[in-house]
Amino acid sequence: MTKIKCKHCNDIIESKYSGQFVQCSCGKIYIDETKYYCRVGGNEEDWEIVKEDSNVSNNDKNEV
Ligand SMILES: [Zn+2]
Repeated sequence: MTKIKCKHCNDIIESKYSGQFVQCSCGKIYIDETKYYCRVGGNEEDWEIVKEDSNVSNNDKNEV
């Protein structure tokens, strides 16, 4: 599932199951992910995609 981080409160949020609606603590962003779509609320500059290092294959380079 996608994880996103709020740049305002530094919360990392994710939908843990399909259709779960999760909001960060400051309320600026939210995520709502299902099999069919991933909806992220808030302004694009308010959040960023987070990737955790567990289970990452073929991805040694740092992304810029
Ligand atoms: Zn926040």
